[in-house]
Amino acid sequence: MRMRKLGGTGIQVSEIGLGCEHLQWKDEGLIRDVIHAALDGGVNILDVFMSEREVRSNIGKALKGRRNQVILQGHLGSCWLDGQHRRSNDPALTVENFEDFMTRLGTDYVDLALLHHVDTDENLDAMVNGGPLEYGLKLKKAGAIRFIGMSSHNPAVALRAVEEGVVDMLMFSINPAFDLLGDHSKSGQLVPGSEGTGDIHAERKKLYETCEARGVGITVMKAFGSGMLLGEKTSPLGKAMTVNQLIRYALNRPAVASVLVGMQTVREVEEALAYESAADEACDYADVLSGALTGTAEGRCMYCNHCLPCPAMLDIAQINKYLDLALLGSGATDTLKDHYLSLAHHAGECLGCGSCETLCPFGVSIVERMQTARDLFGK
Ligand code: SF4
Ligand code: SF4
Repeated sequence: MRMRKLGGTGIQVSEIGLGCEHLQWKDEGLIRDVIHAALDGGVNILDVFMSEREVRSNIGKALKGRRNQVILQGHLGSCWLDGQHRRSNDPALTVENFEDFMTRLGTDYVDLALLHHVDTDENLDAMVNGGPLEYGLKLKKAGAIRFIGMSSHNPAVALRAVEEGVVDMLMFSINPAFDLLGDHSKSGQLVPGSEGTGDIHAERKKLYETCEARGVGITVMKAFGSGMLLGEKTSPLGKAMTVNQLIRYALNRPAVASVLVGMQTVREVEEALAYESAADEACDYADVLSGALTGTAEGRCMYCNHCLPCPAMLDIAQINKYLDLALLGSGATDTLKDHYLSLAHHAGECLGCGSCETLCPFGVSIVERMQTARDLFGK
């Protein structure tokens, strides 16, 4: 496994890391197998943003006796309340949930503690001027946190945090679709790409270059767009890319130290780790990206559940996943319907309140999609 320095932190991280979000709701044995396969393959950095208690406990069990092999990335403000995940700036909730994180992960220190899911200036202000950053800095002083970071999908807000010196490192969503097509910042300005691969949004380019210049290392999330970019039908680029190409693309951005792949089976671990021995030609993405500006990444669900909490207790990510499988795959098959119907709550229960849409970083029309899912699956 090739290692990279995470900017000014000086920490050496494996260029392929493990994003644990897809391990939620998986059983203890599978979680252990995936984590052990990743660690045995040389992975040394794990992101655990989930606030759900059982997955935290199971990851903690998998790391028993191996904590010192891992750079642990946890989140301040990733909270569990009333049976659902929510991001929060509330000081008391932040403390309760971070203490729970450390207890369940079986550790008395966290290497990288990230202000969680900061996509607006208001949230950044609340994190910085309220409890979460203050609490994080207190733990840093006490040695329980090594470095403060931030997770964000918004280049303008992330850039502000970097330029104001709030963070030591950053977790950011990077893939060719977001860089070339997605414009969450609404800047709308494109600048020429440096690799003959089309244009990249100016604000995202500036973010990566500023991070590089200031020694703020980046860990990458959503490198495959939650699998969307791996399929010709699902990719807004209009072409399928491979795991190798997408890992290489993200690693080629300035300041990037590690791509945190959301592996959920041992097979997916092996597939991601195969990048380390892949031939250069197998990772080259220039041909795939040339002339690929055909769609938009905006509005595509990444199945991240950052839109929770939902007053109707809907698992919005899972409903969107089943809907995409039906719309982009082979329709609403009986098997797919069975899976959908086994959910505790269904799209037909949506109240249309719209609170989810204000939280979604990817501009998904959730209310409309819930109606589509209700009509398609009949509930
Ligand atoms: S709707 Fe948005 S926030 Fe919710 S799971 Fe999809 S991408 Fe994530
Ligand atoms: S609009 Fe529907 S899915 Fe979104 S938070 Fe409200 S009830 Fe939940």
